[in-house]
Amino acid sequence: MPSNTENPLVLLIDDSVDVHRLLQVRLRHEQIRLVGKTSGREGLEEGKRVRPSTILLDLDMPDMDGFEVLRALKEDANTNTVPVIVLSAMSSSEDKVTAFDLGATDYVTKPFDLAELRARLRAALRLDQLLHLLAERANVDGLTGLGNRAHYNQRWNEKVAETRRYPSPLSLAMIDIDFFKRINDTYGHPAGDEVLQGVAKLLQTECREIDVACRYGGEEFTLIMPSTPTTDALRVTERIREAMMRIVWARHPEHTVTMSIGLVGSNGGQIGDVTPEAWLEAADKNLYHAKHNGRNRVVATELSVSKRSPTELPQTKAA
Ligand code: GH3
Ligand code: MG
Ligand code: MG
Repeated sequence: MPSNTENPLVLLIDDSVDVHRLLQVRLRHEQIRLVGKTSGREGLEEGKRVRPSTILLDLDMPDMDGFEVLRALKEDANTNTVPVIVLSAMSSSEDKVTAFDLGATDYVTKPFDLAELRARLRAALRLDQLLHLLAERANVDGLTGLGNRAHYNQRWNEKVAETRRYPSPLSLAMIDIDFFKRINDTYGHPAGDEVLQGVAKLLQTECREIDVACRYGGEEFTLIMPSTPTTDALRVTERIREAMMRIVWARHPEHTVTMSIGLVGSNGGQIGDVTPEAWLEAADKNLYHAKHNGRNRVVATELSVSKRSPTELPQTKAA
C-alpha cells in the first residue's frame, strides 16, 4: 500500500540495519509512514523534531541506550505522550520492569513474532489517537464547543509572550451577558443554555479565523484578537454587541439579550513586562465600568505599559 502523508508516522530507533530492513518490508502493508534512525541520539532528536505517533525503540545501542532515550522522551513535554514500544533481545523481567517504569507502553522481545508486533503497533497507534482526542476534549467547553478557560489561558499566554518578543497589535475583550440570571430565573435553565450557545455562535461568525473566542466560565467569554489594535477591536466588539441585540431567541422571542464588553488593546508598540493576567484584569475592569455605566456597551482602553498612562477611548453605548 503506498504510504500516504495522512498516515501516522512511526519512528524506528535501532542500531541494527537488519532490523530496519526487516521492518520496512514487514510493516509495508500497515497504514503508517515508517522513518528510521540507527543511533539513540539521532533517534531522540528526530523524535523531538517530528513527534511521531509511535516509537519502536531498541534498548541495546552503543552511543545512548534505549533506557536513556526513553527517559529523555518522557521528560520532554512535546514527546512524553508518544507511545513507545521497546524492542529488545533482553528478556529479563528486570529490564521489562525498568522499561515500563520509565514509561514504555509495550515490550516486544527479539526475534519478533511479526504478526504480534503489527498488532501491538496498531494498539499503540490507537492509544495515541485516543490521547489526542482526550487532549482536544479537555480544552473544549461541552455546552458551546468553544475553547474553555484552560484553552484561553494557554492561547493568551502564548500570544502575550510572542507579542512581548515581536511587538504587533493585539487586543483582548472580556464579554459578559447582561442580566443573565434573570433569563434562567424567568425562562428556565435550558433558555439560559440556548443564549450561551447563541453567543458562542455569534462570536464565531462575527470574528476572524485567527481570533480566538473562549468560554471563560459561566456567562463570561474572552475574545483574543491578534494583529488588531484597540480602535479596530472596538469596531469588532461593537459589531458583536449590536448583532447580539438583533438575535431573536426561540424560547423568548419577545425578550432581547444584551452583553457588556471590556476591551484592552495594544497598538503594536512595546508591551513591556505586562503579564497576561494583568492584561485580563484591565479588560475585566473595563467590563466592570461597562456594567456600572448602564450595560450593553463596550468600554475600551489602550494597554497601559510602564511610563505610559492609559488613554481612554470614547465609550459607546446602544443607540
Ligand atoms: P450582570 O448583568 O451584572 O452580569 O448580571 P448577571 O445576572 O448576568 O450576572 P450574575 O453573575 O449575577 O449571574 C450569572 C448567572 O449565570 C448565574 C448562573 O446561574 C448562570 N450560569 C452560569 N453558568 C451557566 C450555564 O452553564 N447555564 C446556564 N443556563 N446558566 C449558567
Ligand atoms: Mg452577566
Ligand atoms: Mg458574570
